[in-house]
Amino acid sequence: MSGRRDGQARKDLQCTADALAFQKRYAADLKRRVVERGEPFVVAQADTPHEIFHSMEIPLITNQWWSAYISAKQLSKPYFEKMRERGYPDNGCRYCSLGLACTLANDPATAPWGGLPKPTMLVARLTCDCIQYVFGQWAEALGTEFFALEAPAWRRKDPRWFESSNDRWEEVFESERIGLLVEEMHALIARLQEKTGRVFSESRLTVLMDRINEQERYIAEAAGIIGATRPCPVSILDQVPNTMIPQWHRGSDWAVAHARRFRDEVVARTKAGAAVSGNERIRLMWIGAGLWHDQGFYNALETDLGAVFVWSMYMPFAGPQYIRALHGKPLHALASRICSMNEVLHLPPWMNGWMVSEAQRCGIDAAVILVPPDSRLSQSGINITRLSLEESGVPTLLLDADMVDAQGWSRDVIVKHMAEFLRNAGLG
Ligand code: SF4
Repeated sequence: MSGRRDGQARKDLQCTADALAFQKRYAADLKRRVVERGEPFVVAQADTPHEIFHSMEIPLITNQWWSAYISAKQLSKPYFEKMRERGYPDNGCRYCSLGLACTLANDPATAPWGGLPKPTMLVARLTCDCIQYVFGQWAEALGTEFFALEAPAWRRKDPRWFESSNDRWEEVFESERIGLLVEEMHALIARLQEKTGRVFSESRLTVLMDRINEQERYIAEAAGIIGATRPCPVSILDQVPNTMIPQWHRGSDWAVAHARRFRDEVVARTKAGAAVSGNERIRLMWIGAGLWHDQGFYNALETDLGAVFVWSMYMPFAGPQYIRALHGKPLHALASRICSMNEVLHLPPWMNGWMVSEAQRCGIDAAVILVPPDSRLSQSGINITRLSLEESGVPTLLLDADMVDAQGWSRDVIVKHMAEFLRNAGLG
């Protein structure tokens, strides 16, 4: 098996096609509900308490999904040009601001859905210096409000946070940080009830949190099997949509059933000895957000070099970051899930601690870290993570490229660069 002739990304699992079809239907239905029926909806960052919106039945658009959606439609270039024309700096970060760029471009003819309708609210954690300006200006452009959540510093420097995060979360994520986010969530709930008339129920949240635990356990089981199996039965191109689309709908009947189905398809493929590449010689780790504008890149090294991307953060993150024993405190358990979501993925010692552990668990031969030129948060832990991986015996390549902005990206150039790196590392 190898990359598709048309260079598009190859996906091997039936449940992947079904998950993508489900998201397409959801998006079309959401458009009808929001644009035609004027229903309330929220636009929020990925690291915010989506469970609050789900439990109040308020539809949600995740900014990172919207940004990836626009990027996959190859629209990032014209929209960032519009930003430049409006005087925004060339080196503005991209991932969180592509939605803003689309709104400011105000071009219904090209924009997905004819452009985003007015949301009830925008919600984001203040995880970097830029986010308050991106969301503040976006809220102004959309004529809505921005509800900001704090991102307090985390003093407990435990590089093996993932070994006790499911149960001892009060200790791992610090009760003060959790307490602050619970207070903020109460304020968010009050504001949402005021604006939408929808009512929050802690008992409904508890049911949702239990369902989410069930969902994440299926994903964690699949991650365990895939990491331990050679050759790799399921590539990151199938892992990501089967993890993240259910994640955007976590705890719903569809999401729990789909996660179980994904787990079952992984088990079946493993039993059948199915492989991403019959030529697997190098197991690669992709560190960073997905390359949304060129997913086919992930297949490009399978044939010539037998290099297979077996790991990206999305699927293995489900276990340590989402599963929470509730201890009778669903809002606190939820706060512990959210209050370090970005920190563990982008900041040392939590990022490198987890990445090295995952590289060892999955028998990784080499790692590639995406370095988005202007995304400050995504760069924070990169050098320490590269050093930690190399000290643990995993050659690591830093790749200067953006996850959504395709300007300056050339797959051929990068594939040659990767091949040279792998050869120099004695792997190619
Ligand atoms: S620096 Fe990164 S996290 Fe911050 S607003 Fe920009 S893209 Fe988003």
